[in-house]
Amino acid sequence: MATLVRSISQNGGVICTAIDSTDIAAKAEQIHKTSATVTAALGRLLTAASLMGVMLKNEEHSITLRLQGDGPAGLLIAVTDGLGNVRGDVENPVVEIPLNGLGKLDVAGAVGRNGSLSVVKDLGLKDPYIGQVPIVSGEIAEDITHYYAVSEQTPTVCALGVLVNPDLTVKAAGGFLAQLLPGAAEEDIDRLEQNIGKLSSVTKLLTDGVSAEDICRMVLEGFEPQILETVKTEYRCSCSRQRVERALISIGKEDLRQMMEEEESVEVNCHFCGKQYRFSREDLRILLEKAEKKG
Ligand SMILES: [Zn+2]
Repeated sequence: MATLVRSISQNGGVICTAIDSTDIAAKAEQIHKTSATVTAALGRLLTAASLMGVMLKNEEHSITLRLQGDGPAGLLIAVTDGLGNVRGDVENPVVEIPLNGLGKLDVAGAVGRNGSLSVVKDLGLKDPYIGQVPIVSGEIAEDITHYYAVSEQTPTVCALGVLVNPDLTVKAAGGFLAQLLPGAAEEDIDRLEQNIGKLSSVTKLLTDGVSAEDICRMVLEGFEPQILETVKTEYRCSCSRQRVERALISIGKEDLRQMMEEEESVEVNCHFCGKQYRFSREDLRILLEKAEKKG
């Protein structure tokens, strides 16, 4: 399980949410069999989604992040429920590109530096809230920061990191989101910038044994931080046979009939977790009946 900690400054002007998402990024790598650079990219997006999701505080609500850049990885998707449990998918899981100029995995090279980040928030209302911003760096953390500045007018600092072992497993992953709330003072901004300026990278902190709670305390140093809650989150898929049936019915009568006539059985794989759902010809016939009833 990943550990997520929410904290707030004594004066209520600054909040910080931090996560050790090593288990989430590791699970994503196992499911999608990503190359190192894509493991880092998808791990960062999932980490951001979990940090954003836990702030919704309602399990039924969700946020979908769609990062569509012009790089070789193609579309990356991360979906979180309102408690920070996430799932994700990537168009091209295997992208082999050289390290960047800093000797790090070239996430921006895989994602692309042009394109868009869209954020769809389903808060149980009639229509979801949709915000979209252009990609500013492709490194993802800066793109999340930019989204909050432009779409939600919330000054935000975001850091995300994924460290991949030579055998392609995930060594560490994590991140934090620090935000200024209305009423934050000028000196709060200066202090926050100083604190963050002193921090090592998230993956360095985590591999040194620093916890998510420690990261909150470091980001909010001098603010007398209060820990609001510590929660466990995980890579969790919400697929079910019923949902796959609904999806099959929605493809329409003609396509369903054709499928039934041509195939002995059909296998549908969930994009997010790889789970296989098998439908026999008889299963398809029953779905076709349901589709016909719907008109
Ligand atoms: Zn699934």
